[in-house]
Amino acid sequence: MSPSTEELASLESRTAEEIVLWAAEKFGTKVALSTSYGAEDMVLMDMVKKVAPSMRVFTLDTGRLPEETYRLMSLARTRYALPVAVYFPDTSRVQEMVNTHGVNLFYDSVDSRKLCCQVRKVEPLGRAMNGLGAWVTGLRREQSTARAAVRKVEFDEGRPGVMKICPLADWTEEMVWDYIKKWDVPYNELHDKNYPSIGCAPCTRAIQPGEDKRAGRWWWESSSKECGLHEHAAKATAKP
Ligand code: SF4
Repeated sequence: MSPSTEELASLESRTAEEIVLWAAEKFGTKVALSTSYGAEDMVLMDMVKKVAPSMRVFTLDTGRLPEETYRLMSLARTRYALPVAVYFPDTSRVQEMVNTHGVNLFYDSVDSRKLCCQVRKVEPLGRAMNGLGAWVTGLRREQSTARAAVRKVEFDEGRPGVMKICPLADWTEEMVWDYIKKWDVPYNELHDKNYPSIGCAPCTRAIQPGEDKRAGRWWWESSSKECGLHEHAAKATAKP
Protein backbone atom coordinates (compact mmCIF):
# COMPACT_ATOMS: atom_id res chain seq x y z
CA MET A 1 0.00 0.00 0.00
CA SER A 2 2.94 2.37 0.62
CA PRO A 3 3.81 4.57 -2.38
CA SER A 4 7.15 4.08 -4.13
CA THR A 5 9.98 6.60 -3.93
CA GLU A 6 9.14 7.72 -7.48
CA GLU A 7 5.47 8.19 -6.62
CA LEU A 8 6.38 10.20 -3.51
CA ALA A 9 8.58 12.50 -5.59
CA SER A 10 5.91 12.98 -8.25
CA LEU A 11 3.30 13.91 -5.62
CA GLU A 12 5.26 17.03 -4.73
CA SER A 13 4.03 18.74 -7.90
CA ARG A 14 0.34 17.93 -7.31
CA THR A 15 -2.16 20.51 -6.07
CA ALA A 16 -3.68 20.27 -2.60
CA GLU A 17 -7.00 19.04 -3.99
CA GLU A 18 -5.19 16.40 -6.04
CA ILE A 19 -3.32 15.21 -2.96
CA VAL A 20 -6.55 14.91 -0.96
CA LEU A 21 -8.16 12.94 -3.77
CA TRP A 22 -5.06 10.76 -4.18
CA ALA A 23 -5.08 10.00 -0.45
CA ALA A 24 -8.76 9.03 -0.51
CA GLU A 25 -8.26 6.75 -3.51
CA LYS A 26 -5.01 5.24 -2.24
CA PHE A 27 -6.01 4.55 1.36
CA GLY A 28 -9.83 4.40 1.31
CA THR A 29 -11.14 3.88 4.84
CA LYS A 30 -7.57 3.75 6.17
CA VAL A 31 -6.98 7.50 5.88
CA ALA A 32 -8.44 10.30 7.98
CA LEU A 33 -8.21 14.07 8.19
CA SER A 34 -6.99 15.19 11.59
CA THR A 35 -8.43 18.61 12.38
CA SER A 36 -7.85 21.01 15.23
CA TYR A 37 -10.03 23.62 13.48
CA GLY A 38 -7.15 25.93 12.64
CA ALA A 39 -7.24 27.92 9.39
CA GLU A 40 -5.38 25.22 7.43
CA ASP A 41 -7.62 22.50 8.84
CA MET A 42 -10.70 24.40 7.76
CA VAL A 43 -9.30 24.67 4.22
CA LEU A 44 -8.76 20.92 4.23
CA MET A 45 -12.22 20.23 5.64
CA ASP A 46 -13.68 22.28 2.78
CA MET A 47 -11.57 20.35 0.25
CA VAL A 48 -12.51 16.99 1.76
CA LYS A 49 -16.18 17.91 1.51
CA LYS A 50 -15.69 18.80 -2.15
CA VAL A 51 -13.42 16.05 -3.47
CA ALA A 52 -13.50 13.19 -0.94
CA PRO A 53 -16.63 13.52 1.25
CA SER A 54 -16.43 9.96 2.52
CA MET A 55 -12.98 10.50 4.07
CA ARG A 56 -12.94 10.02 7.82
CA VAL A 57 -12.38 13.15 9.92
CA PHE A 58 -11.41 13.26 13.58
CA THR A 59 -10.50 15.84 16.19
CA LEU A 60 -9.11 15.78 19.70
CA ASP A 61 -11.03 17.58 22.42
CA THR A 62 -8.46 18.07 25.18
CA GLY A 63 -11.06 19.51 27.54
CA ARG A 64 -9.10 22.79 27.65
CA LEU A 65 -9.99 24.28 24.26
CA PRO A 66 -11.00 27.94 23.89
CA GLU A 67 -14.72 28.68 23.70
CA GLU A 68 -14.11 30.13 20.22
CA THR A 69 -12.94 26.71 19.00
CA TYR A 70 -16.07 25.02 20.33
CA ARG A 71 -18.16 27.63 18.52
CA LEU A 72 -16.32 26.86 15.28
CA MET A 73 -16.76 23.11 15.77
CA SER A 74 -20.48 23.68 16.04
CA LEU A 75 -20.52 26.00 13.00
CA ALA A 76 -18.52 23.54 10.88
CA ARG A 77 -20.86 20.71 11.86
CA THR A 78 -23.77 22.68 10.43
CA ARG A 79 -21.91 23.88 7.35
CA TYR A 80 -20.24 20.64 6.23
CA ALA A 81 -22.32 17.90 7.85
CA LEU A 82 -19.23 15.70 7.99
CA PRO A 83 -19.31 13.06 10.73
CA VAL A 84 -16.31 14.32 12.73
CA ALA A 85 -15.26 11.77 15.35
CA VAL A 86 -14.28 13.52 18.59
CA TYR A 87 -11.69 11.81 20.79
CA PHE A 88 -11.38 12.73 24.46
CA PRO A 89 -8.60 12.04 26.96
CA ASP A 90 -8.92 9.02 29.19
CA THR A 91 -10.86 10.23 32.23
CA SER A 92 -8.91 8.22 34.79
CA ARG A 93 -5.57 9.47 33.45
CA VAL A 94 -6.72 13.10 33.55
CA GLN A 95 -8.05 12.59 37.07
CA GLU A 96 -4.81 11.07 38.29
CA MET A 97 -2.70 13.76 36.59
CA VAL A 98 -4.70 16.66 37.97
CA ASN A 99 -4.95 15.19 41.45
CA THR A 100 -1.18 14.63 41.51
CA HIS A 101 0.15 17.71 39.72
CA GLY A 102 -2.64 20.30 39.80
CA VAL A 103 -4.99 21.56 37.13
CA ASN A 104 -2.50 23.99 35.56
CA LEU A 105 0.57 21.74 35.78
CA PHE A 106 1.82 22.85 32.35
CA TYR A 107 3.20 26.10 33.79
CA ASP A 108 5.37 24.23 36.33
CA SER A 109 7.96 22.69 34.01
CA VAL A 110 8.50 21.42 30.47
CA ASP A 111 8.11 17.86 31.75
CA SER A 112 4.75 18.71 33.33
CA ARG A 113 3.62 20.38 30.14
CA LYS A 114 4.64 17.35 28.12
CA LEU A 115 2.80 15.08 30.53
CA CYS A 116 -0.38 17.11 30.03
CA CYS A 117 0.04 17.01 26.21
CA GLN A 118 0.67 13.28 26.43
CA VAL A 119 -2.49 12.65 28.44
CA ARG A 120 -4.77 15.13 26.68
CA LYS A 121 -3.46 14.89 23.09
CA VAL A 122 -0.95 12.18 22.24
CA GLU A 123 -2.73 9.23 23.85
CA PRO A 124 -6.13 10.15 22.34
CA LEU A 125 -4.42 10.63 18.96
CA GLY A 126 -3.08 7.10 19.23
CA ARG A 127 -6.61 5.82 19.69
CA ALA A 128 -7.92 7.98 16.83
CA MET A 129 -5.24 6.61 14.53
CA ASN A 130 -5.69 2.99 15.47
CA GLY A 131 -5.84 0.99 12.23
CA LEU A 132 -5.07 3.94 9.94
CA GLY A 133 -2.46 3.71 7.17
CA ALA A 134 -2.30 7.47 6.66
CA TRP A 135 -3.43 10.75 8.14
CA VAL A 136 -3.97 14.15 6.56
CA THR A 137 -2.75 17.22 8.44
CA GLY A 138 -2.58 20.96 7.80
CA LEU A 139 1.18 21.32 8.31
CA ARG A 140 2.86 23.97 6.13
CA ARG A 141 6.60 24.47 5.65
CA GLU A 142 6.25 28.19 6.22
CA GLN A 143 4.70 27.79 9.69
CA SER A 144 7.99 27.37 11.54
CA THR A 145 11.58 26.27 11.10
CA ALA A 146 10.58 22.95 12.67
CA ARG A 147 8.21 22.34 9.75
CA ALA A 148 10.40 23.67 6.92
CA ALA A 149 11.22 20.19 5.59
CA VAL A 150 7.68 18.80 5.59
CA ARG A 151 6.78 16.97 2.38
CA LYS A 152 3.34 16.55 0.85
CA VAL A 153 3.44 12.81 1.45
CA GLU A 154 6.01 11.25 3.74
CA PHE A 155 6.49 8.34 6.09
CA ASP A 156 5.53 9.35 9.62
CA GLU A 157 8.72 8.69 11.53
CA GLY A 158 6.86 8.60 14.83
CA ARG A 159 4.41 5.96 13.58
CA PRO A 160 5.89 3.00 11.72
CA GLY A 161 3.90 2.00 8.65
CA VAL A 162 1.84 5.19 8.63
CA MET A 163 2.01 7.91 5.98
CA LYS A 164 1.64 11.58 6.86
CA ILE A 165 -0.08 13.61 4.16
CA CYS A 166 0.30 17.39 4.12
CA PRO A 167 -1.56 18.75 1.06
CA LEU A 168 -0.80 22.36 2.06
CA ALA A 169 2.92 21.79 2.66
CA ASP A 170 3.94 24.38 0.05
CA TRP A 171 1.12 26.85 0.71
CA THR A 172 1.81 30.33 2.03
CA GLU A 173 -0.33 31.94 4.71
CA GLU A 174 -1.72 34.23 2.03
CA MET A 175 -2.89 31.25 -0.01
CA VAL A 176 -4.70 29.83 3.02
CA TRP A 177 -6.60 33.05 3.61
CA ASP A 178 -7.30 33.59 -0.09
CA TYR A 179 -8.93 30.15 -0.14
CA ILE A 180 -10.93 30.87 3.03
CA LYS A 181 -12.23 34.15 1.58
CA LYS A 182 -12.90 32.73 -1.89
CA TRP A 183 -14.99 29.84 -0.59
CA ASP A 184 -16.39 31.59 2.50
CA VAL A 185 -14.91 28.93 4.76
CA PRO A 186 -15.74 29.37 8.47
CA TYR A 187 -12.72 30.02 10.68
CA ASN A 188 -11.81 30.54 14.32
CA GLU A 189 -12.57 34.11 15.38
CA LEU A 190 -9.33 34.12 17.41
CA HIS A 191 -7.42 34.38 14.10
CA ASP A 192 -8.77 37.95 13.87
CA LYS A 193 -7.24 38.68 17.28
CA ASN A 194 -3.62 37.85 16.36
CA TYR A 195 -3.77 34.15 17.13
CA PRO A 196 -2.22 32.54 14.02
CA SER A 197 -1.85 29.20 15.81
CA ILE A 198 -4.55 28.03 18.23
CA GLY A 199 -4.33 25.21 20.71
CA CYS A 200 -5.58 24.84 24.28
CA ALA A 201 -6.78 28.04 25.95
CA PRO A 202 -4.24 28.17 28.80
CA CYS A 203 -1.34 27.44 26.44
CA THR A 204 -2.08 29.90 23.62
CA ARG A 205 -1.77 33.68 23.51
CA ALA A 206 -1.91 36.32 20.79
CA ILE A 207 1.41 37.19 19.12
CA GLN A 208 3.03 40.59 18.70
CA PRO A 209 4.00 42.03 15.28
CA GLY A 210 7.19 40.37 14.04
CA GLU A 211 6.94 37.36 16.33
CA ASP A 212 7.16 33.80 14.99
CA LYS A 213 3.73 32.43 14.04
CA ARG A 214 3.96 29.81 16.78
CA ALA A 215 5.36 32.17 19.42
CA GLY A 216 1.97 32.21 21.14
CA ARG A 217 2.08 28.46 21.83
CA TRP A 218 3.60 27.60 25.24
CA TRP A 219 5.09 31.09 25.18
CA TRP A 220 6.72 30.67 28.57
CA GLU A 221 8.97 27.90 27.17
CA SER A 222 12.05 28.38 24.99
CA SER A 223 12.05 24.82 23.62
CA SER A 224 10.34 23.42 20.52
CA LYS A 225 6.78 24.66 19.93
CA GLU A 226 5.42 21.19 19.29
CA CYS A 227 3.33 18.95 21.50
CA GLY A 228 4.23 15.46 20.36
CA LEU A 229 1.62 15.10 17.63
CA HIS A 230 4.20 15.92 14.98
CA GLU A 231 7.26 14.54 16.70
CA HIS A 232 9.51 14.36 13.61
CA ALA A 233 9.06 18.06 12.87
CA ALA A 234 9.90 18.90 16.46
CA LYS A 235 13.01 16.73 16.50
CA ALA A 236 14.30 18.29 13.30
CA THR A 237 15.15 21.54 15.05
CA ALA A 238 15.01 20.68 18.74
CA LYS A 239 17.21 23.07 20.65
CA PRO A 240 20.02 21.54 22.70
S1 SF4 B 1 -1.59 22.41 25.09
FE1 SF4 B 1 -1.55 22.84 27.32
S2 SF4 B 1 -3.58 22.27 28.16
FE2 SF4 B 1 -3.36 21.42 26.07
S3 SF4 B 1 -2.69 19.37 26.38
FE3 SF4 B 1 -0.83 20.56 26.07
S4 SF4 B 1 -0.17 21.30 28.10
FE4 SF4 B 1 -2.28 20.48 28.29
